[in-house]
Amino acid sequence: MAATECRDITEWVEEQVSKPVEEWEERQEQRCKEEDCNWWTLCLNKLFCWFVTVLVKVVRWVVVTVGKWVTRTVCTVVSVLVDLVVAVVTGLVDIVVGIATWDWGRVWDGFVEIVGGVVKGVLGLVRVVLLVDTIDFIREEIQKQQLRDHVRGLLEKRFARDPESLSAAREAIGVDHGAFGLRLTGRLTRTFVSSDRTTAEDGVPDLIRWHEDPDLDIDIRKLAGYDHDSFWRRGRPEVSGADEGQVDRYIADRGGRSFRIFPMSESVLRHKASVCEERARELGLIYEFEYDEREVTDPAYVRLAESEQDEYDVDVLHRIDENVDSSGARNLDLPVPHGGTVFGYAGTLVGLSAHLDDAVGVDGSPFPGSNTSGVSCLDRVPDLVFEYVLAHELGHYFGLVHVDGAHRIMFTMNKSQGKSVFTWWTVPSLLLVEQQPKFVLEEAKRAWDYIVAGWPTKALTTRAHG
Ligand SMILES: [Zn+2]
Repeated sequence: MAATECRDITEWVEEQVSKPVEEWEERQEQRCKEEDCNWWTLCLNKLFCWFVTVLVKVVRWVVVTVGKWVTRTVCTVVSVLVDLVVAVVTGLVDIVVGIATWDWGRVWDGFVEIVGGVVKGVLGLVRVVLLVDTIDFIREEIQKQQLRDHVRGLLEKRFARDPESLSAAREAIGVDHGAFGLRLTGRLTRTFVSSDRTTAEDGVPDLIRWHEDPDLDIDIRKLAGYDHDSFWRRGRPEVSGADEGQVDRYIADRGGRSFRIFPMSESVLRHKASVCEERARELGLIYEFEYDEREVTDPAYVRLAESEQDEYDVDVLHRIDENVDSSGARNLDLPVPHGGTVFGYAGTLVGLSAHLDDAVGVDGSPFPGSNTSGVSCLDRVPDLVFEYVLAHELGHYFGLVHVDGAHRIMFTMNKSQGKSVFTWWTVPSLLLVEQQPKFVLEEAKRAWDYIVAGWPTKALTTRAHG
């Protein structure tokens, strides 16, 4: 959380301090150019004008860069310490509550949280002390500049005959001044099943009928998180309106209770969203998420099959099918990335995605688009590994493909994809340099190729939020 505050401070400085000064510099340069040489001062007036401009430039650059570096370093240290304390406290709570309720899974999770938190905290501090964070800061600043140049080039090409849109897009995205990034509104939907929805004539709730149907892999106790197929592949579903005993009586009585089961708690979804917000900055995307809740009424969307993502997007997330309304799918949906939750997938998947347009992967491989767009993901412990799932799926949303190396967000453990866990950079990256999976510059460029090629003009020329 502290990291979010730090980023906000940095972007505020870029937007409110640096940008007006840079704009003044540009006007001043123009003025210097146009100023007549006064012969009686031997042109010194012109020289003086340039001198002032350069001085302001140097001072502004030093102040802003040093300011950003200090903010970042202080913030990094604070967030490492805060994360450490939070991990230890929540871990201890889980252990104590777990022991009190005989919930050994929770005791184990608490233990993992504490050990993981301490290791992460120590490595995080070592990283700052060895100035690795500072080197990373310099590298990020350079790469951000390279991405800005790339985006400027793309926009100049797309709006070659539309100078008005070009300057609006440069301003909206902050290509030249201010905080760089496409301001996006994202939407996240927490799905749920409800116990009293009934469509059959005999009055037996749908959820009971799904539970009793041998052809469906739906077990209410598993949906609620009381039982699981595998201890290592657990999520943290949330039952609202009933406890375990009441859910059991509901199953035994075939109805008679009113409750909802969510595959993901709100706090877990918000956590995944904040990780996504943080990492999406590496792609030059500035998200703001809206949240809602929607009931799942078709058993096919409780446990999603790989081929069903498009149907899920349309039926559950209410996304537009290109074949039904091509303009709606492009103009209304595409600029608003949308993700939803599921209880599980057929197989060992943790998320799925659909992107509208054909894309080209960082490795040059084709990545064909769908009839609609949207992503889904499930919850799984530990967060240390699975908190990146939403960021990964929303990476696919922008046409990004799978890569080798667990230090990359677009890495996948799915064996059918045949990606290797390690590259030469994986261990140094995860242990010291970055200490978390990230997007790389090449991916940011590909994502922008995708955006500028197919997104509606309005999405590029206006900010979706302030
Ligand atoms: Zn993937």
